[in-house]
This record gives sequence, structure tokens and C-alpha cells, in this order.
Amino acid sequence: MSTAHQAMVEVFEEVKKRNPNEPEFHQAVKEILESLEPVVEKHPEFIERGIIKSIVEPERIIKFRVPWVDDNGNVQINRGYRIQFNSAIGPYKGGLRFHPSVYEGIIKFLGFEQIFKNSLTGLPIGGGKGGSDFDPHGKSDAEVMRFCQSFMTELYRHIGKDVDVPAGDIGVGGREIGFLYGQYKRITGLYEGVLTGKGLTFGGSLARTEATGFGLCYFTEALLDDHGDSFKGKTVVISGAGNVAIFAHQKATELGAKVVAMCDSNGYIYDKNGVDLDAVKELKIKSRKRIKEYVSIHPEAEYHEGCKGIWTIPCDIALPCATQNEIDEESAKILVKNGCKCVCEGANMPSTPEAIATFQENNVLFGPAKAANAGGVATSALEMSQNSLRMSWTFEEVDAKLKNIMVNIYKNISAAAKEYGMAGNLVAGANIAGFLKVANAMMAQGLV
Ligand code: NDP
Repeated sequence: MSTAHQAMVEVFEEVKKRNPNEPEFHQAVKEILESLEPVVEKHPEFIERGIIKSIVEPERIIKFRVPWVDDNGNVQINRGYRIQFNSAIGPYKGGLRFHPSVYEGIIKFLGFEQIFKNSLTGLPIGGGKGGSDFDPHGKSDAEVMRFCQSFMTELYRHIGKDVDVPAGDIGVGGREIGFLYGQYKRITGLYEGVLTGKGLTFGGSLARTEATGFGLCYFTEALLDDHGDSFKGKTVVISGAGNVAIFAHQKATELGAKVVAMCDSNGYIYDKNGVDLDAVKELKIKSRKRIKEYVSIHPEAEYHEGCKGIWTIPCDIALPCATQNEIDEESAKILVKNGCKCVCEGANMPSTPEAIATFQENNVLFGPAKAANAGGVATSALEMSQNSLRMSWTFEEVDAKLKNIMVNIYKNISAAAKEYGMAGNLVAGANIAGFLKVANAMMAQGLV
């Protein structure tokens, strides 16, 4: 066993011991540590100076009670989190997730991944993540507002435009960001860019809403282009029907593909004529309804309960844009059998380690989340820049910067994989390139 391997195993065992019952966090750490073995072989100082041990430990974990009153006058209690994971290269940056499955392990895995993703954007942002086990489904606007106000009444003391700048994630879109921003402003009296994903009338950036989905497609197009291919004429399956999925559909279609399936957390639709995006936007964004109602608008389409079946639909390109671990080994094998040639991750950690191995063994072009979905946070950083400058760039300016960032991310991670003898392995390339910048900054700043 090499010394590097031994050192990484020891760090991983310690992580499991210190963070029991947090399988998602263990999964994210394991993947990074495995990818970094060739790096620490070459640079043993990252072990000797404690960088590996430090990077897996959050700088700060904030956990708080969120009391609010529902429309029937009943007191409800939720739990809120903000994990400020790493500030070596900039203020903490990362979304807030409101979903009943949220607990410390989910926020830790997301915050940990965010460190490397943010580093890959080339912009000065550290890694953090937050959220709550609050479920916005079925709540009135007034209930969501009261919850957001209560959440921010605690969170405001821990964040700031140069300290920590949260954004949206699952269950946190423009409506929630608006309520959170209003409460921050009211408590602090500051009109500052403390959140991103804001409305366009109060500091939001054009193209931020579209950024993660568009960026995912720019990254995928760069990967395909490097292999002499493109989206043109391809059949695409996209899971999810939220912010990322909807704008991935829009851009993939603009680039010449046909999207035939999408899903929400109840089930999936298959429309062989191509999913009508306006209908999905109307159902999921405007009316906050279930995707199954799509078949009442398009009776020729099919609706199936449960989400896993979406991966049985034959496609050339799969873009998982819903949630973690949504593609397991079985689904990955079916995708491969059905001829899928490219998988790029819009969601965070949507493929299990076994699924990733299946794609790699079968030469499926695979773009990992840290790189492929970094367009959202990159554009959030562009929103921070515009807020600091007190200026707004046009949609075209932001979109052009986003595209440039995504193409550069592809080039950088592809080069890093090659440099460390793993050409074509973008999982390793993303982990290595993301790590090196943060690790060098940590070394330069001493033990902090
Ligand atoms: P949204 O809340 O806007 O949408 C999430 C979508 O996924 C919804 O359609 C939801 O269904 C569906 N979904 C949620 N859980 C499941 C599940 N267990 N099975 C099947 N479908 C499910 O979130 P986003 O689009 O913002 O986020 C999606 C993913 O992308 C997440 O992993 C997030 O971390 C990641 N991401 C988001 C970024 C952003 O800028 N927003 C940036 C980078 C990554 P339903 O409508 O029923 O709730």
C-alpha cells in the first residue's frame, strides 16, 4: 500500500468516526480523497502540513431553531443550518436547500463539494451551504414568507456581502430569496449583495435564473465538441422539472437536441414528440402543480409514477437535474445498454459511485457535477461583482461570460486529468484542479 493511499484511508476513517450516520458526506469525501492520491504522491506537503485533514472539517457549523406560525395559527418548528466550510479563496458561497430530507449530513456533503466547484469557476469564492428541513410544497405564500423571515432572523448575524453569500437550491427559488432578502435588509438596514438569485428589480443578475441549466449545456457541448460531436439531432432525457432542468431543456433544444422526458418527485413524463417546455414552465413555475398534469395538455404523452423509470427511456444524452443518488448502478447499466453516450450532472452528486464506474467502464462521456453545474454559482459570483460595482450587465454580457467560464472549466479539468495520467477521467480532473487552488491558498495562509 502506498504512503499516499494509507494517509488518505486514515483521513477517511477519521471523517467517518467524527461524522457518524452521514452517508452522503462520506460518499463525497471518499470520491475526493481517492482522486487526490496521485496529487499527494507528488506533493506530500499536503499531508505533512495537515491540508487534507483540514479541508474535510468545516470551518464552522451553525444549527438553529426556526419557529413560525402556519395559516391555522399553529406553531411549527423547523431546523436551520449554515455550514461555512472553507474560506481560503473567498467568502463562503453556496445555496440554501429547503426540503424535508435536509439534515446535517446533506448540508455537509453539499458544502464540501461546493469548495471544489467554486474553485473551478476561477472566481474568488469559498464554499458553504445551508438550508432547512422545511417543505415548501403545499404551503401558502404567507406561510413561506413567515418561515423565510424567521430563518433569516437567525441567519443574518452569520452572513454578509464579504462574509458569506447564500443563494437558492432545491425548494429555494426567486420567491424565497425575495422574502429572505427583505428580512435581512429590515434587520440590518443594509442594502447589500448578501444573497444571489435576487429579483431583477433589487440587484439580481440577468441570466442567473438560466445559468445552471445553460451552463450545464455549454459544458456538455464543450465535452462533445472535444470528441467531434454536438447536441445536434440528439435525444436527451432530463430528470427534474425545476430551475436547473427547465433551463437545461431550453438550451439543449436551442443547440439542436430533442428532450423527450422530464420528472418531478412523483413521476416522469415521456413525450416522444419532444417535451413542450412552455407547458412545463406553466405547470411547475407559474402554477406550482405536479408534472403529471402535462398529459392533460398533451394526451399523446405518457405519465408514469415513480422517477427511476425515466432512465429506461432510450437517449443519446442524459442530464440528471433533480437530486443526489438518483442514478444507481442498475439505471446506469440500462442507460448504457440503450446506447447513451454522454451523461453530464446538473444536480449535485446525482450518480452513485457504482453508476459512475459503470459509465467510465463503458466509455460514456461523463461530466461530474462539480464542473458541469458550476454555471449557477459562477453567475452568482457575477451577480456579486455587479452589486459591488452598482451596475447591471446585459443578458448577453452575462451569458457570454458564463459560456466562457464553462468552456474554461472543461479545458482545465481535462488538462488536470491528463497531467496526472488519467486522461478523459473528468471526475479526477475536476477534483484535482478544484483542490489545488484551494490547497495552495490554505498553505500560504498558514494554520487557520
Ligand atoms: P428545484 O427545487 O427548482 O427543482 C428540483 C426538481 O427536482 C423538482 O422538479 C423536484 O420535484 C425534483 N426532485 C426533487 N427531489 C426529487 C427526487 N427525490 N426524485 C425526483 N425528483 C426530485 O431545484 P434546482 O433545480 O435548483 O436543483 C436541482 C439540483 O441541482 C439539486 O441537486 C441542486 O443542488 C442542484 N444545483 C442547483 C443549482 C441552482 O442554481 N439552482 C446550482 C447547482 C446545482 P418537485 O417539483 O416534486 O419538488
